[in-house]
Amino acid sequence: MPSSWTNWGRNQRFTPAAIFRPLTEDDAIARIGEALRAGQRVRVAGSGHSFTPVVETDGLLVDLSALTGVISVDAAQRQAVVRAGSTIASLGEPLWNAGLSIANQGDVDVQSIAGAVATGTKGSGLAFGSLSSAVTSMRLIDGRGEVVDIDASDPEALAAAQVSVGMLGVALRIGLQLVPAYGLREENCALPMAEVFERWDDLLRDYRHFSFWWMPTDRSAAMYALGDVPADHCFVKLLREVPPEAIPARPGPLNARTDRAYRIYPDGTTDAEFHELEYMVPASRAREAVLALQSLMLTRFPHEISPLQVRWQKGDSAFLSAQSGRDSVSLSVSGVIGEAYEPFLRAVDTLLAEFDARPHWGKLHFLTPESFRRAYPDAARFEAVRRRFDPEDRFLNSHLKALLA
Ligand SMILES: Cc1cc2nc3c(=O)[nH]c(=O)nc-3n(C[C@H](O)[C@H](O)[C@H](O)COP(=O)(O)OP(=O)(O)OC[C@H]3O[C@@H](n4cnc5c(N)ncnc54)[C@H](O)[C@@H]3O)c2cc1C
Repeated sequence: MPSSWTNWGRNQRFTPAAIFRPLTEDDAIARIGEALRAGQRVRVAGSGHSFTPVVETDGLLVDLSALTGVISVDAAQRQAVVRAGSTIASLGEPLWNAGLSIANQGDVDVQSIAGAVATGTKGSGLAFGSLSSAVTSMRLIDGRGEVVDIDASDPEALAAAQVSVGMLGVALRIGLQLVPAYGLREENCALPMAEVFERWDDLLRDYRHFSFWWMPTDRSAAMYALGDVPADHCFVKLLREVPPEAIPARPGPLNARTDRAYRIYPDGTTDAEFHELEYMVPASRAREAVLALQSLMLTRFPHEISPLQVRWQKGDSAFLSAQSGRDSVSLSVSGVIGEAYEPFLRAVDTLLAEFDARPHWGKLHFLTPESFRRAYPDAARFEAVRRRFDPEDRFLNSHLKALLA
């Protein structure tokens, strides 16, 4: 009897025909190729940290958690090739030992690198794109079961592969553009919302990483395990870059640590439980969008306690990237697990549509085929590449097929 699969948020559950965990790349190529040639559908599960049905399949579910590690480093180009099943956390130390770091990371690092890349996972900082934007190459098994290498020599394929939600094939290796190893000093603090608005431009300019969670109620901070922050105040995450030689032997207390960058990015939100929505809007409309969302929460949904998280990202060029062609600000809110939060999240979706919002592929959203085509001007270019790699739709599931319809 095949086992069922469940995601981190416990809102996605399904039973695939079979689950396969290859121990070597050759095993993966042989078994996945066999399944594809037999007409089976295939999807890959990363660490299960997406809230959307992006892993679901009635066919073969592939688990690449045994295919991990850094394969090669090009110190001169500051690039590395890593195995797709590596968690982001597991890459920090070997890259550091090679004198390199990932330029920016999100709030947790337990995701597989391939899963994080597939959905456009990102941190905060107007000078930095998502993890997907750092992808320079990819080796994958395509819909015919063949091993294909993608790089800048095929720019259409690379722009499709950078954010593919698993629709081009099974990624085995990922090439990443990195930066010289760096440290970070936390200066996290709690500030009234009015002060954050007042200092916003300075904070964006002065810190490598500026992001904040605004608390609509006194109970909100507890939802994300953010400590004691009262209503209409923000937990502000402020990170300054420091050179590796400035990192002390002891990092210091939480929220005032100095350490290697990859040790600083993950924060307390790992301990929380929630179902999240995150939409990206043009950075030029950040203030307007934050004010509109705050007003919606306070007037129409005063019982919703979700903190509103605000982060920034540099524009990029991946076809299905939420930041494609524009610097962006991301706005995220969550529902409490077990509560009827959908009317709230739908109202957020309707509100942010007025700001040309594009959702995070891994977080709850209400895209339709029409709003998908409107939001992603390069959807047709993505579809052309997808048909080239997967002409028989072996990597589509019902959720993604409905969107591409
Ligand atoms: C607590 C928490 C914190 C989070 N923090 C952030 C954050 O700070 N910033 C942010 O942007 N997002 C964040 N996310 C969202 C998360 O980063 C994304 O949903 C990400 O995709 C999860 O990676 P995963 O390894 O769990 O992939 P999964 O959710 O398992 O899979 C995601 C997609 O990748 C595909 N995939 C995985 N591996 C492969 C492969 N080898 N080949 C082809 N396709 C593959 C899957 O089929 C699926 O379509 C957070 C989520 C949670 C639950």
